Amino acid sequence: MKTTWLLPCLFVLLLATFSLGQSSNSVAGPEDLSSLNTQHEAPMLGIHWARGFSPFSRGIPPASNPNMTYHGGVIMPSVVSEAIYWGPSWTNSTFVGDKITGLDSWYTGFNNSNYARTSDEYTGSNGQVGSSVTHNGHLIDTSTAANGSSTSAIVAEVCKEIKSPVSNGYYPVYVDVKRGNAGYCAYHSYGSCSGVTVQVAFFFNLDGDAGCDPQDTSGLHSQGLAALSNVSGHELSEARSDPDNPGAWYDRRGQENGDKCAWTFNVPLVTFSNSTRWKIQGEWSNNAYNTGTGYPNSSGQRGCLDGH
Ligand SMILES: [Zn+2]
Repeated sequence: MKTTWLLPCLFVLLLATFSLGQSSNSVAGPEDLSSLNTQHEAPMLGIHWARGFSPFSRGIPPASNPNMTYHGGVIMPSVVSEAIYWGPSWTNSTFVGDKITGLDSWYTGFNNSNYARTSDEYTGSNGQVGSSVTHNGHLIDTSTAANGSSTSAIVAEVCKEIKSPVSNGYYPVYVDVKRGNAGYCAYHSYGSCSGVTVQVAFFFNLDGDAGCDPQDTSGLHSQGLAALSNVSGHELSEARSDPDNPGAWYDRRGQENGDKCAWTFNVPLVTFSNSTRWKIQGEWSNNAYNTGTGYPNSSGQRGCLDGH
């Protein structure tokens, strides 16, 4: 989501005990939270709120037309992904379990999947979202990880680890730090490495974290992997449809396509292009909402698609 906040959000956000970066599309006035930002860094976008933490769940009625609108920016016609696992626990085989192999398989199978195609209707100044994801595997950094409260720290980690960043690069950073009192599971943002604009994302360690758990009972994956794969779908879909300033596709409340379908699951498992199966939320489709062909989100609006 964008950081254009309405006043009732302030109280909730303060309860969530973190501050948001400023956004160039923030409006001036008493609701402007840019004074909370002291680092002038890129905003957290598409924040994947933990269950029950959505600032939109209290007090603000849903829009009469819930569709997203275009805000003039670029989209991602294609993606090159490379994951970064940050923190000393990523050398601990018990902690790692099936997470790294599972997420490599997840990104590989996202490529040209029907799930990926749920974001392909969106266009931007540089073309149309496409389903191609070239996954270049992963890197492990065993230094102490940041806790996600600073987007610039996540961008710095990406720039440190990725030696040859590309302009359609998407670099998710999975840390071994737990969420604690933070109200969110993950977010995406952007930055620049040696003059190359890159998309980044941040993910807490979600082991045993009920607030960020899709409750996958398939037995195919560990709980921690299942939780990371669900939020990974949310963030990658948002990065593809709304990657950057000035922003591309989000609704009047700043919600991106992942936000609008968060914590709603249409089927027990969605099959990816490499036949792997995941419990994963859908993504908002304006077309599906307009034609009544989506499944309902948490507000009962039938605009969610999971490509199953
Ligand atoms: Zn989001």
